[in-house]
Amino acid sequence: MIHTHENGITCQDLLLNLSSYIDGDLEESMCEELKRHMEGCQNCRVVFDTTTRTIYLYQSRIERDEIPPEVRERLYSKLNLDDFLKTKA
Ligand SMILES: [Zn+2]
Repeated sequence: MIHTHENGITCQDLLLNLSSYIDGDLEESMCEELKRHMEGCQNCRVVFDTTTRTIYLYQSRIERDEIPPEVRERLYSKLNLDDFLKTKA
């Protein structure tokens, strides 16, 4: 399909396609581009991680009406990681 430049997609492209990607609505070639971008872009990895985590938490709340401790723990460690990244930058 569309030719991509050597740097692949931009952060904006990733954000625009993120929900489709998570929903599994994206073309396979585009999924590959998103994955490739995230391999080289920690910012987008964090965004992707946080988004999928949020969706997961939301879905588990519907199913169980509470957040499993394991998930909460992972969320906290992710938040700590974010703080660490901000401090570093
Ligand atoms: Zn990015």
